[in-house]
Amino acid sequence: MNYIKESLSQVFGNKPTRPDKSKQPAALKAIYEGKKGKLTKAALQAVELEHHGTFFRKWQRRRWITLILVNVLFLVSYKFDVQLLEGAMTASRFVGFHFADLNSALQVMLAYKHVVLNLVIGTTTVFIMWLLLGGRTFCSWVCPYHLLSELAEYLHLWLVEKKIIKNHTFHRKTRSVFYVIFALMALLSGYTVFETISPTGIVSRAIIYGPGLALIWVGILLLFEVFYSRRAWCRYVCPIGITYAAVGTLSPVRVTYNAEACHHEGDCRKVCLVPHVLDLTIRGAAHDINQDVGADCTRCGMCVDVCPTDSLNYKIKGLDNFL
Ligand code: SF4
Ligand code: SF4
Repeated sequence: MNYIKESLSQVFGNKPTRPDKSKQPAALKAIYEGKKGKLTKAALQAVELEHHGTFFRKWQRRRWITLILVNVLFLVSYKFDVQLLEGAMTASRFVGFHFADLNSALQVMLAYKHVVLNLVIGTTTVFIMWLLLGGRTFCSWVCPYHLLSELAEYLHLWLVEKKIIKNHTFHRKTRSVFYVIFALMALLSGYTVFETISPTGIVSRAIIYGPGLALIWVGILLLFEVFYSRRAWCRYVCPIGITYAAVGTLSPVRVTYNAEACHHEGDCRKVCLVPHVLDLTIRGAAHDINQDVGADCTRCGMCVDVCPTDSLNYKIKGLDNFL
């Protein structure tokens, strides 16, 4: 299976390709066969006890600290004029290097219909950086809206569990449709419409320059996610996610799956922002014993944290077993 082709297909809203059973490696089939009758509740409880999962999990804790530190660095640089990290999340300068969010740069160039040199330099720097760091790593390790939305998700899940509300899902292709709509709006109106409503930019600017009225819009989005649809903005709307997912197809930083010890109980899919990338953990759905999770993955590490059998792990392609 071609990783880039399969990842892009999933990013644009298609279902993960199910394996052709006749082409699955014999060793993988033997693993599935060998599990027959062994994946009992008692066996799962035993491995879960060994796993010692906690609320503040290892990767989640590291990620939250990183995300908060990056955003605080913007604030501190602005407040004390240290010129270390200038600007906001969408366009910045770090120790003199221009950084421009890839999607924001595209919106600006479509709106103004010419190529801005600083933006080209900034997008090249950002492209290389996120290529090395994992693409959608931007979402879960840096985007300030991700953290707010992640906290809102806990409330949403609690309300669903108490049967006070129901979660509503949309087709994943909705995000691709929004991507085209936002690009066309910039091109036709001459305004960077998406930038005006993007919670990533709004929250980032609010942290640095102080709160403004635009935060009301972010509040509305969060209420929608708490009471109606889990992580709706990131799952069905935000074009930044698509852009960085495309970058992630080429990235060496990935989450990888090993089918051998997996209990197929689905704990990973329950915590994942993009659970379609973890369809390979469903019994019989992997293409190989070891398979990389698709590039729509935000490398958040939630699945790595909760997997009771350590079947999901980070890897750096070419430097396997480094992490
Ligand atoms: S999808 Fe958009 S809002 Fe969500 S985490 Fe990624 S950049 Fe932030
Ligand atoms: S597959 Fe794992 S690391 Fe990737 S987004 Fe889902 S939970 Fe996070």
